[in-house]
Amino acid sequence: METAEWQQQPCPAWCTVEHTDHDHPDDRSHRDDGVPVPIVMRTRTVVDGRMADQTVEASLVTGRWQRDGDRELWWSLGIDGDASLEVTTESLARVIETLQGLLAEAQETL
Ligand SMILES: [Zn+2]
Repeated sequence: METAEWQQQPCPAWCTVEHTDHDHPDDRSHRDDGVPVPIVMRTRTVVDGRMADQTVEASLVTGRWQRDGDRELWWSLGIDGDASLEVTTESLARVIETLQGLLAEAQETL
């Protein structure tokens, strides 16, 4: 992959963007394609004045994003392209560690 004129750093190994010298300054970032993780999630809606649960299959898409020349790597979590959350690597590690602990605890009681 060639390096565009504006790049202050070579693309990280995970970057899948084909950069050009004419990229708009707002688009000068490194991104991956995202990895979809199939999930089943619960949604709640109000039906006839009462809360109703619904089970929905979806994709949780995880991706990486880094502005060119910036050291901070951002991890995004989005559901089917909608609501997304962008967190630092340290934040993601804390979330994973916490969830692993809670999951292990829940599995012990099954
Ligand atoms: Zn790149």
